[in-house]
Amino acid sequence: MDSAQTPIRRLLIANRGEIACRVIHSAKLMGITTIAVYSDADRHAKHVNMADEAIYLGPSPALDSYLAIDKLIKAASATQADAVHPGYGFLSENVAFAKACQQHGIIFVGPGPDAMAAMSSKSDAKAIMETAGVPLLPGYHGDDDSLENLTTEAARIGFPVILKPALGGGGKGMKIVRQQSDLAEAVLSAQREAKSAFGDDRLLLEKYLTEPRHIEVQIFADQHGHCVYLSDRDCSVQRRHQKIIEEAPAPGLSDSLRQQMGEAAVQAAQAIDYVGAGTVEFLYDARQQTYFFMEMNTRLQVEHPVTEMITGQDLVQWQIRVAEGRPLPLTQSEIRHQGHAVEARLYAEDTQQDFLPASGQVHFLSEPESGAFSVGKAQAIRSRIDSGIAQGDTVTTYYDPMLAKVIAWGEDRASAIHQLQSVLSQYQIGGVATNIQYLQRILAHPSFTQGQLTTHFIEHYQDSLQ
Ligand code: ADP
Repeated sequence: MDSAQTPIRRLLIANRGEIACRVIHSAKLMGITTIAVYSDADRHAKHVNMADEAIYLGPSPALDSYLAIDKLIKAASATQADAVHPGYGFLSENVAFAKACQQHGIIFVGPGPDAMAAMSSKSDAKAIMETAGVPLLPGYHGDDDSLENLTTEAARIGFPVILKPALGGGGKGMKIVRQQSDLAEAVLSAQREAKSAFGDDRLLLEKYLTEPRHIEVQIFADQHGHCVYLSDRDCSVQRRHQKIIEEAPAPGLSDSLRQQMGEAAVQAAQAIDYVGAGTVEFLYDARQQTYFFMEMNTRLQVEHPVTEMITGQDLVQWQIRVAEGRPLPLTQSEIRHQGHAVEARLYAEDTQQDFLPASGQVHFLSEPESGAFSVGKAQAIRSRIDSGIAQGDTVTTYYDPMLAKVIAWGEDRASAIHQLQSVLSQYQIGGVATNIQYLQRILAHPSFTQGQLTTHFIEHYQDSLQ
């Protein structure tokens, strides 16, 4: 393994919105010159204004701008960037992009293409984890997707089962199958959706857990063979299989279970010689206190701030440091977590209309006073807004409708929730529909405050949340 250290002096951020702003903030703290990229729709965007330099990519559709590998490589070369940070979404888990950076002598702030490729198929990832001894749900992740074979496998696993696109993401194309007679139709429609969303119709089959929690572990590895975990997060509150509220640490886990899951996640990362920030996602069965590997995300997650709040660490700085070839700043025994943090994702959407993305001009914006991006000072600041918008911006439907994240810290879970409610109530935005009130209702719901979390939370309480 190459252990030479290469300082990063000029960093291009191949993303937009709040995560581009978040990365720019930490890079600046490290004395790095930041270069933003933008599309037509983002000419006056906050991330462009925040960066030291900015370079135009192309028209608003992501395929012509934030997803255009050749344009991004050209932009990085033209601006003499020595590294690219991909953020999350867009090209962050794209093997071809990581390889293109490598070929052009640009450091990709993320894992190597091989580790990324190993985790890019859920089926391959499960096969690797099985060999590494990481607990898996009963399932089938082999190559034979014939109806005959899937029928045999589903009978062996036992209904209900879930079909997932092997290359899937964002909760798309998954089908729950409750009985044998529904399988054939579900397979056909899952294949159709997988093909159109991911260009590949391979599926995997898994036991469907009826009331699980989504618990994930933040891991970090450097180029020198060190790998650690930085506590865990509960991301069970989801709509359409997408997270909207996340918290750290996951409530109600015993210290020994937390440690077991952390160690399983490190084992998972080490099985693929992982480098950088990664998240190992598990489904957790609270009754049996058992956990099962679901997938590994090979990038910084949207919800990383809750981990930063409880550990006092700046994970973007860790990423840059690791990409430069430097060792991890802390060993496992030096990583501590204190208190509790909760994050709410603020979306431009119509909560009455099946969470349909909303658009419009932000004619008024008043974000609460907070320690924006004051990573590492949670105890002093208690709340943080990671926002990608400014007054006057137009929210379009070209990109993900998440506008900002509001994160709060407290000595315990109840005070973190209370703090988050208070900050959210001060967040004012006019001109575009948002889910702020909906988030408030979740935070005030007795089942949420009592920590009765399952991935069906929203479904169960839909009526009282509207
Ligand atoms: P994606 O990559 O599309 O986000 P995941 O495999 O991460 O898909 O699953 C997303 C969500 O779907 C999980 O957080 C969970 O709520 C639900 N889910 C996935 N697999 C199962 C399962 N076997 N049993 C129950 N729920 C599941």
